[in-house]
Amino acid sequence: MDRKLEYTPAVARATAPLLEKVKEFVPPVEWPLVAPLIYAINELKKAKRAVIIAHNYQTPDIFHCVADFVGDSLQLAFQARETESEIIVQAGVHFMAETSKLLSPEKTVLIPSLEAGCSLAESVTGHDVRLLKEKYPGIPVVTYVNTSADVKAESDICCTSSNAVDIIESLGVDRVILLPDEYLSKNVAAETDVEIIAWQGRCEVHERFTAEEIRGYRKATPGLFVLAHPECSPELLAEADYTGSTSGMIRYVKDRRPPRVMLVTECSMSDNVAAEVPDVEFVRPCNLCPHMKRITLENILQSLELMRYEVTIPEDIAAPARRAVQRMVDVHVTGRDYGGGMAPEVVVEDRASVDPAAAS
Ligand code: SF4
Repeated sequence: MDRKLEYTPAVARATAPLLEKVKEFVPPVEWPLVAPLIYAINELKKAKRAVIIAHNYQTPDIFHCVADFVGDSLQLAFQARETESEIIVQAGVHFMAETSKLLSPEKTVLIPSLEAGCSLAESVTGHDVRLLKEKYPGIPVVTYVNTSADVKAESDICCTSSNAVDIIESLGVDRVILLPDEYLSKNVAAETDVEIIAWQGRCEVHERFTAEEIRGYRKATPGLFVLAHPECSPELLAEADYTGSTSGMIRYVKDRRPPRVMLVTECSMSDNVAAEVPDVEFVRPCNLCPHMKRITLENILQSLELMRYEVTIPEDIAAPARRAVQRMVDVHVTGRDYGGGMAPEVVVEDRASVDPAAAS
């Protein structure tokens, strides 16, 4: 569609309050290029009665200037379900759009780039889970929401990083399979007496941070308060002052206002939170998620104009996957922060250990 993207006086006026919010992250010299895109997206969104839901790891121009709702993947899926809009644009990665579609099957869910994947979600398939269940018959499978619908469909129940311990303990069993993040599983194992069987999946952003790096930042920055995500290694978490989900970290910083903080997670989140708490100083170790960065203002606009790319899930996968998510919701736990206990030894399975064909 041929749309003129010009920085007219009307566009400048309409977007001026947004520039105020993001001027630390979008240099004013670039604003005449960015503002027409923001303006066009917001106009088209209104015309189509669509909403944009943006993950905490999206860049500030998306997060603060075009998103209607922001949050972690599950919060966004709930927002998608609750909104009256029939068109949802997911500014996030593919498994998030699938989770939104699972909870809103009657709505049109669009993802602006088909390349917005996730190393963690891609570490495990439905076939892997079926083999794991053969190896551990009768052991419940608890699956992190950062997985494909195919994997959720093979699972007994889903969890998030903040409610994983409560969900596992709600099952009343001695042993569970917890998929797919190895570090999250080890960190959860430190918080519960339930034995955890893990999978060798990793988030390529969080696995890059090291305990040594954190010690270096502390030495260089007196008074630094370190908040870490539980997808980081147990060794790193031992160095942190607080461990919790992205929402937990945001809540902590907004409520307690430590004067100088470092969020050990994807670096756009620091930018997004910093824009809202100007009195807090942020130290930013910048590990970007290349998958999240596939989403841009340009492809959001195209997504809305061309109604692409629509997320679809075959009902034979969607029904059991939705059941696993709904079971988690029905447990009614709000989640908790991590206490930083020592992780016991955890069995970590991988494709070669469950699939003789992959091993040979
Ligand atoms: S930050 Fe990690 S878990 Fe999140 S989308 Fe990127 S690779 Fe996946």
